[in-house]
Amino acid sequence: MSDVARRLADVRRGIERACERAGRDPEEVTLVGVTKTVDADTIRQAIDAGLAHLGENRLQEAVPKMRALSDRAPVWHFIGHLQRNKARRAVELFDRIESVDSLRLGRALDEAADEIGRELRVFVQANVGGEESKHGVALDEIPALVDELERLPRLTVVGLMTIPPPRDDRERTRADFREIAGLFRSLARERPALQHLSMGMSADYEIAIEEGATEVRVGRTIFGERRG
Ligand SMILES: *Cc1c(COP(=O)(O)O)cnc(C)c1O
Repeated sequence: MSDVARRLADVRRGIERACERAGRDPEEVTLVGVTKTVDADTIRQAIDAGLAHLGENRLQEAVPKMRALSDRAPVWHFIGHLQRNKARRAVELFDRIESVDSLRLGRALDEAADEIGRELRVFVQANVGGEESKHGVALDEIPALVDELERLPRLTVVGLMTIPPPRDDRERTRADFREIAGLFRSLARERPALQHLSMGMSADYEIAIEEGATEVRVGRTIFGERRG
């Protein structure tokens, strides 16, 4: 078994443990392997060990890896900050875009999806940490933004995504997750398309699952520490 396959199995066990503690079914949690800075051969080992969803945060970096792995057809999630002038390229390349943080970006994505002739599933990126986290939409602005994005014909808002600020105190991270999970549940009650809550990374994915994540984005714990 390769190192990557072994670490992937460890993460899967971590997901199962967290689900057990929370009384949840592990089938409800999608593992997205974050492959920034990871080379295509290593990613291939993870895919061959069963990893079906991959996350990248830069278009330029993702393109050659997508080409190299096209025979494996993973589901690609865009998880980085997206500029409007790159919307078209992102729509061409990615299955999901998790970082929609404005109506203007949503419109650019919708237009690109229309030109290409496809439907696009997006997540709204929520800012849970206030000033400490750089990207994402303030929680009180999310309901209106979700509804405006839903009116765009080619977009479906399928989830919320968040990256809480790094905290020394894990209970504060838990409180961040709990806050966004509460908003997610209240929105989802009236919006059946909204099914995914993407939160939790290497350091905190078990806490995120305990608080209701349906998708965790894990990089280093599967692929090792990133260089540079
Ligand atoms: C890098 C990254 C991750 C994964 O972080 P790790 O600490 O390597 O697990 C998750 N989400 C986003 C948006 C990232 O940029």
